Amino acid sequence: MKKTVLVSGGAGFIGSHVTVELIEAGYEVVVADNFSNCDRTCFEGVKKITGRDDIPFEEMDFCDAEAVDKLFGKYHIDAVIHFAAFKAVGESVAKPLMYYKNNLLSFMNVLEAAQKHGGCNVLFSSSATVYGEPKSVPVTEDTPRQPAMSPYGNTKTMCEDILQDTVKASDGLIKGILLRYFNPIGAHPSALIGELPRGVPNNLVPFITQTAIGKRECLSIFGNDYPTPDGTCQRDYIDIVDLAKAHVFAVTRMIEGKMKEPCEVFNVGTGRPVSVLELVNAFEKVNNLKLNYKFAARRPGDVTAIWADPTKANTEMGWKATRTVEETLKAAWAWEKHIAGK
Ligand code: UDP
Repeated sequence: MKKTVLVSGGAGFIGSHVTVELIEAGYEVVVADNFSNCDRTCFEGVKKITGRDDIPFEEMDFCDAEAVDKLFGKYHIDAVIHFAAFKAVGESVAKPLMYYKNNLLSFMNVLEAAQKHGGCNVLFSSSATVYGEPKSVPVTEDTPRQPAMSPYGNTKTMCEDILQDTVKASDGLIKGILLRYFNPIGAHPSALIGELPRGVPNNLVPFITQTAIGKRECLSIFGNDYPTPDGTCQRDYIDIVDLAKAHVFAVTRMIEGKMKEPCEVFNVGTGRPVSVLELVNAFEKVNNLKLNYKFAARRPGDVTAIWADPTKANTEMGWKATRTVEETLKAAWAWEKHIAGK
């Protein structure tokens, strides 16, 4: 019997790539999304890539407790991966209540329903944002978390705690894995799914590809006076397909009972620091084009440098990032051209 994984927010950027990898690994996937921050393009792409026109899909809002309860009653869910959340840092500063309400309530509804329906394995999509500005790099899972710099970041920290506490009090009914993502970029090599930012992109790579295709005039590199080798910020950019595969490893680990603790934490990164300028240069080189960019003031709230020590995920889960930045930037460009119809 195939095991079933519920993917909340499964039509979004990360959710759609995870759905593909889960299906390719032999899981049955139930995708649930309210399309609040994505359109149907990626879900259609998932169907094309997997050749599955019959993926169970539920259009619903995870803030609706009754709907979440019904969902857990309708399917036998072996594991749930929770993505359904708002993710724009700036917007969260302007609309904190909207962020706290949506991101916390939806997750608590999932946990409550999971508990009520006999327990479940729960994977929460956390973020390296919980480390704040780290005192030293790379960061391991034991690097202390820092107070969040935005309501968005705070929802990640709070959901981590909510899962930890729920697991502790659940008498073994709920098991959890927190995956702390570094900077997911790129797109599926098929160019049928990828990131579809609404409005002006906040993230670096969508801004780069939109500038290259002519949707944006010029990329601003936020700050070139940081204490880093070239003065620009350093991040751990991880290919979206590599990141998606980490979910398959984590889900399998939970379902097969291989966890060492009832709630585990893993960094999902490459261990490779890349500066903004290095990323821009690599994009130009690998795609053989020139990008219009300028140096601009620092962006408030940016940390100078952060990258993962992925040893725990590599050794414990057996997962490792395999793609080069060049491959990933090629895929990101192919996706931008695909959505532009070129
Ligand atoms: N960045 C930039 N110009 C942009 C967007 C981002 O220079 O238009 C920089 C940003 O300052 C940071 C890095 O790119 O150093 C990654 O930013 P992103 O928002 O993609 O991810 P973050 O690490 O902030 O979550």
